[in-house]
Amino acid sequence: MTDDKLLLMIPGPTNVPDRVLQAIAEPSVYHRGEQFSSMLKESVEGLQKIIGTEEPVIVLTSSGTGAIEAAISNLVNPGERVLAFHTGKFGERMGDIAAMYGAEVHWWESKPGQAPDPAEIADWLSDNPVTAATFTFNETSTGVQQDLQAMSEVFTEAGVMSIVDAVSILGGAPVRMDEVGLDAVAAGSQKALMLPPGLAFVALSKPAQQKAAQSTNPHYYFDLTAAIEKLADGQTPYTPAVNLVAGLREAVRMMLQEGLEDVYLRHRCLGTACREGIARMGLEPLVDNPGLASSVVTAVKMPDGLDSSELVQRLRDNDRILISGGQGALKGKIFRIGHMGCCQIDDLCRTLSAVAARLADMGYEADAEDAANAASVAYERCREENDG
Ligand code: PLP
Repeated sequence: MTDDKLLLMIPGPTNVPDRVLQAIAEPSVYHRGEQFSSMLKESVEGLQKIIGTEEPVIVLTSSGTGAIEAAISNLVNPGERVLAFHTGKFGERMGDIAAMYGAEVHWWESKPGQAPDPAEIADWLSDNPVTAATFTFNETSTGVQQDLQAMSEVFTEAGVMSIVDAVSILGGAPVRMDEVGLDAVAAGSQKALMLPPGLAFVALSKPAQQKAAQSTNPHYYFDLTAAIEKLADGQTPYTPAVNLVAGLREAVRMMLQEGLEDVYLRHRCLGTACREGIARMGLEPLVDNPGLASSVVTAVKMPDGLDSSELVQRLRDNDRILISGGQGALKGKIFRIGHMGCCQIDDLCRTLSAVAARLADMGYEADAEDAANAASVAYERCREENDG
């Protein structure tokens, strides 16, 4: 078997449905022609529904970090005070980018697997004014899904511009940007949106668009004001990845056909099922508060004395399933299962059963069939409880 037969159960890139792959494989179209404009327009209309905004959604040819850098560099000027969060690798990346663009960054400490407390942030902000806050909706390195509404309320109340990294969760949980009152949402294509890597998305609130238009940072490729102007004509400033946009249109169509609420419910129930499966193996999630447990990725503590890098390798070699290990200080100590995009319960059960079998090979007693069954039952129960 070759690498292309691997089942990707990592938190991105994810498995790409055949329909999307076929759309990408169509001949390239001219990016200044009518065919591309209509493709982009339909994709953007779909993304507006997925992000929950009436504002334009800028489609960039880059990975997710490009969208984050674009949002931060257009909205944060040198010398401005920014609040950033040590929640994990991606929360830290946002603060580092802000610092690189000349912001005075204030770091909020947080333990891995925990989330900052919005009430404490509100308290702190009353004595420490900042112009912007950068945070992850879903911290992929730990599996914490922030309470977006609570965070947004704190920042709106304090007049702070909220810049959100939704890279690993857009399409897997509702963002409701306008309703919640977020100023910038950044995302990437290769996660819950079921596309290969290569596209990134940014939406800005009206105040954020105004601020971006007066940005004092230099921009060329990532000038969001220029991108918004071009989008009004159904175009992008520079040659976009036209084939990926064809795939994007197809992915958006698939999500709307399934129904966004159903897509979100499927993800939430996959998260519930995954936690049930690992509990049945006697393992603990890194995130002990179920209210913060991610719908799209679950981080699991390794049994004492065992290294998650070995588990990842065994799953890849024996089962042709790819899961992730931990990052930074969590390397070797946790493994992460991504359950996002076109992932179905059967994919998850196959993965859990393989995890249990390989742990057993490594000397930790776990029952593969039992873990998969528990996940499947939990998934059905979750759907029944929430359907309709
Ligand atoms: N932010 C989060 C939350 C992520 O999960 C990732 C990638 O895993 C990124 C940012 C970076 O995205 P990219 O690798 O597409 O630049």
